[in-house]
Amino acid sequence: MTMDHRTTFAGPSPVWHPFTQHALAPEPPLVLRGEGAWLTTATGERILDAISSWWVITHGHCHPRIVAAIRDQAGELDQVIFAGHTHLAAEALARRLVALAPAGLAHVFFSDSGSTAVEVALKMAVGYWRNIAEPRSRILALEHGYHGDTIGTMSAGARGIYNAAYEPLLFDVTRLPFPAQGREEATLTALEAACREAPCAALLVEPLILGAGGMLVYPAWVLAEMRSICDRHGVLLIADEVMTGFGRTGRLFACEHASVMPDILCCAKGLTGGALPLAVTLCRREIFDAHYSEDRRRTFFHSSSFTANPIACAAANANLDIWDEEPVAERIAALGALQEERLARFHDDARFASMRRLGTVAALDLAVDDPGYLAGIGLELAAFFRERGLLLRPLGNTIYVMPPYCVTAGDLDRVYAAIAAAAEHFGRG
Ligand SMILES: *Cc1c(COP(=O)(O)O)cnc(C)c1O
Repeated sequence: MTMDHRTTFAGPSPVWHPFTQHALAPEPPLVLRGEGAWLTTATGERILDAISSWWVITHGHCHPRIVAAIRDQAGELDQVIFAGHTHLAAEALARRLVALAPAGLAHVFFSDSGSTAVEVALKMAVGYWRNIAEPRSRILALEHGYHGDTIGTMSAGARGIYNAAYEPLLFDVTRLPFPAQGREEATLTALEAACREAPCAALLVEPLILGAGGMLVYPAWVLAEMRSICDRHGVLLIADEVMTGFGRTGRLFACEHASVMPDILCCAKGLTGGALPLAVTLCRREIFDAHYSEDRRRTFFHSSSFTANPIACAAANANLDIWDEEPVAERIAALGALQEERLARFHDDARFASMRRLGTVAALDLAVDDPGYLAGIGLELAAFFRERGLLLRPLGNTIYVMPPYCVTAGDLDRVYAAIAAAAEHFGRG
């Protein structure tokens, strides 16, 4: 392939980028290559991908094993309708996921993004109650939660400037206060009260860390308590592990920290090592069984064109091979320790607050005069880091570091040196 057609474009780009105000956004870098934790642009600049390209890349960009699996599968079977048909890559992947996931999750439904995995989970939950002739549709969710950008997942997620325009289309959910440190009981009391007040279909949570809501962490015991309250009231627990799955929090799934078995579990981002879009929604046998009937009306009516795309499934199998054969758990533990050491450097720095780390993810809040999202501090910080060859995308004044597991100590030093420089430049006090 020649470089020309990729680097010489005439006129303004027709591309409409996600979450981008084109009137204000700087020219985006044209990224040509990815390798490990690094991206290379058309001008030859190297950028350290310190947020795993929006939390998807786990082992590093273009891991040879995943690349080879994609290549091989593409030459064998590119795509096949998954209704009424099956293929080797999906069959193998589903069996492996059931074996790896928290006990009790017995069935695997494929889709293609985190949002669709959560939509599927919500439909499974509501369909379950309908099919057992006890209709329930009320969804419980955590304050500051994020579950995607489709109408259903926006409904379940926090309301704010991101979805204000679509508010008229969103359905109501019952929101529980976030279990902030010292206020955990309030969450549990609210959950108990909501379950008593009216029948609830499901509680949807991001286990242990709320990503887009600001990398907010809460303790494992709270998740375990939420599980028992749900059990007492027969409410289904949906774990949205779209971000947390595949090692981010130090375990394969965040639910493992609390020994919690959700009724439904959603995965996407890291499922293919981040190389291709693929998602799964795993569920307990009872939920599948409630749809199992000679009555066609009880069918689980959901599909998308690329459900269980073979190439994406092959990439996911290669990801699991890497987990089996490379020291991924050790790598993750080492990365957690490196993050902790570097965060600790800021402990006495009054310009930072709320230092937190869960597994490979580290976050801290920079004290600034106006931390609101619209104030644009996040974008100013991102531009500041970008000038230093770093891909970081703070959420308002919350700076977080979520690199691929192959990142080196030296790479992380660059990241934290830039964070220190940002405090000099933007920090208050
Ligand atoms: C990113 C994310 C989603 C949405 O996933 P997409 O693949 O972007 O649709 C859902 N839930 C959580 C917790 C996420 O972090």
